[in-house]
Amino acid sequence: MGQEQQDLFDKQPPPWELDDRREVCVAEVVFAEAPFGPYDYEVPGTLRAAVQPGVRVQVPLGRGNRRRVGYCTVVGSQAHVTRALKPILATVDSRSLLSPAMLRLTRWMADYYLCPLGQVLDAVVPAGVRGQAGTREQVFLHVAPGVTARLAELALPPKQRDALQILAGSSGGMTPADLAAAAHCTSGPIQTLRRKALVTEEVRRVQQIIPDTRTVDRVARLPLNPDQQAALEAILQPLRQRRHETIVIHGVTGSGKTEVYIQAIEEVIQYGRQAIVLVPEISLTPQTLQRFESRFARVAVLHSHLTGSERHWHWRRIATGEVQVVVGARSAVFAPTPNLGLIVIDEEHDASFKQDIVPRYHARDVARQRALAEQVPLVLGSATPALESWYAAQCGTYRLIEMPRRVSALPLPDVATVDLRTPHRGRHAPGAISQPLYQAVREALRDGGQVILLLNRRGYSTTIQCPACGHVVKCPHCDLALTHHRHEQTAVCHYCEYQIPPPPHCPECRFADIRYSGLGTQKLEVEVQARFPGVACLRMDSDSMSKPGSHETALSRFRSGEVRILLGTQMIAKGLDFPNVTLVGVINADTTLHFPDFRAAERTFQLVTQVAGRTGRGARGGRVLVQTYSPDHPAIMAAQRHDYRQFALQELPVRREFGYPPLVAMIRIVVRGPVETAVEQFAEQVVERLRATATARQVEPRILGPAAAPLPKLRGNFRFHVLLYHADQPALAGLVRAATEGLKPPADVLWTVDVDPLDML
Ligand code: ADP
Ligand code: ZN
Repeated sequence: MGQEQQDLFDKQPPPWELDDRREVCVAEVVFAEAPFGPYDYEVPGTLRAAVQPGVRVQVPLGRGNRRRVGYCTVVGSQAHVTRALKPILATVDSRSLLSPAMLRLTRWMADYYLCPLGQVLDAVVPAGVRGQAGTREQVFLHVAPGVTARLAELALPPKQRDALQILAGSSGGMTPADLAAAAHCTSGPIQTLRRKALVTEEVRRVQQIIPDTRTVDRVARLPLNPDQQAALEAILQPLRQRRHETIVIHGVTGSGKTEVYIQAIEEVIQYGRQAIVLVPEISLTPQTLQRFESRFARVAVLHSHLTGSERHWHWRRIATGEVQVVVGARSAVFAPTPNLGLIVIDEEHDASFKQDIVPRYHARDVARQRALAEQVPLVLGSATPALESWYAAQCGTYRLIEMPRRVSALPLPDVATVDLRTPHRGRHAPGAISQPLYQAVREALRDGGQVILLLNRRGYSTTIQCPACGHVVKCPHCDLALTHHRHEQTAVCHYCEYQIPPPPHCPECRFADIRYSGLGTQKLEVEVQARFPGVACLRMDSDSMSKPGSHETALSRFRSGEVRILLGTQMIAKGLDFPNVTLVGVINADTTLHFPDFRAAERTFQLVTQVAGRTGRGARGGRVLVQTYSPDHPAIMAAQRHDYRQFALQELPVRREFGYPPLVAMIRIVVRGPVETAVEQFAEQVVERLRATATARQVEPRILGPAAAPLPKLRGNFRFHVLLYHADQPALAGLVRAATEGLKPPADVLWTVDVDPLDML
């Protein structure tokens, strides 16, 4: 504990002041900002009861003894303190913010993700909870001791006597206003009682009540089909035996996974326990929530638009055990359920479960640690499991349950590819929609169906280039091509939001005919409107859906049938369940296929499979057309056949051959800064230390780099990265920890460590 602390102390006390026989209560304290600690502090006698692990404390820090707030993480007594410790000055929280189990989980996170514990704690406890948002101090009155017995002899005026009697009958005291109302008097008599000291005052922090206005119709449980029954049994077995098991439910879209989760949760609740359901942020739609709210009385929904007070309110309701089911995005994995019974992660392959700032945790792995510690089952559901989960199931670490059929025996939709390389395509259809897709859309509309078109690029034109000199209009901070947004009349950098008016001529050579090319959703929308005149169409991407509530409005317009064609980015690929969608068109399956990322094939397979699942959900059936320049690519062929198993069978050997996850563990270090040489030099220094440490420890990881990152410049910073691979995760993490211990970059250079990275750019 707290080795660095000595240096930070002003001076050691003279030796005669040190009494090594004195037993001292010592608390370990960590901070969310550098220096992170841990440091040891003495707990003064007056604070012994108040200072607990998980309580924030005010302490003096550094030479100037600046008052800082930190988290107390351990309290213990030490018999032989050989140096004087600074004292804790005060506590911030009246009760611990984290249970002992959650504290252990945060330690695991700090350890596994190689980041300071204080930063983990700050991420786990929402800001609204730390700031006690939506609470205020409130005075409560109690009858002073002994007063009730003397009531008769006091001979009080009637109002004061009545008020005292009412107060005596209350449990827990009353606020002055409530008391005045109950006694039908003004504040005068109550003030008098206070002045005469016949009542005592107590200040308590009370939470503003956030009324739950939603009323949802109750829906009865559905009788399960045999696949669902088997999946349910697989979850109930470990649940009843109170043991952990990670269960991968590989179920095609529409196989009824959600109904299985719900019935498993019904049993969890019968035991008086709680369940956590994690869904991708984008799936936190009213449609999803309604399915849970129509089955459970007390559901807490944690999404990113909550205010601090709402979040605090939910947190308290969850912590008291009042909430039965917590449904939320990534961070809901930290919900303080007192008696957890089950964790479910739906669409577990979704990249939004990984946080891209410190702590860079993956909710799936944190959930597994939590489920292990609390001995509860963890369910990972997906039509396209992450290869990490699939591989763990192949190895027997996780249990695999398959749900290969859709409910009600609806067939999976037919998927066909449209080869964009076909030479005649250019003659017949100059735009984004090929002739076969055009025909298919027309037929679908003619038959009264609805259409979904996926294009994973927003904006109008994706490149602005001068045909005369070749100059591409780029972001000066990121060195990436700007995208033309026609509605907003801007050319925008999609990484840093830098924007300029669209240049009318080449900024380099002044050539007048600068060319806007490449296809984004805005341009697709224009093409759809031109080719299907009079058909209501709607674009969904992060530009058109930036206002809160716009997502729901758009979906309800589509559900009502008012909108016939829905087009958009991957936002429309997930979770939507509209039986009338009879056609899905993928405008260009190659957008994700050629990324400099070893998961590019997996991402493409997932995206095509997910969007294909949006059709064929009703009696009318459905079909999918995938436009691609790579119809023979294994990922696209497997998606065409809805064959996850085939995809995994081809992809895992590739990962093995090239030494990529999930076959080995991986850590990525990114170094960035405004001066390219300084960044590169520091990255080289990091690699030297890694190599030296590896030799000393006799660990032999594969170390690649330093090399310029695929996005070599971002927001004005040059970026280099180092990639480390090794079969043994703890050995690899230990190596990075040891090699970077005390590592100080030069001014203006920053470095980050990403364990199990998903972002390779
Ligand atoms: P998934 O989560 O696997 O995509 P869902 O749970 O959304 O599948 O189920 C697809 C549709 O089938 C939903 O409309 C759901 O209400 C319905 N459904 C699920 N289970 C049953 C069942 N046992 N009997 C009848 N309908 C069901
Ligand atoms: Zn930029």
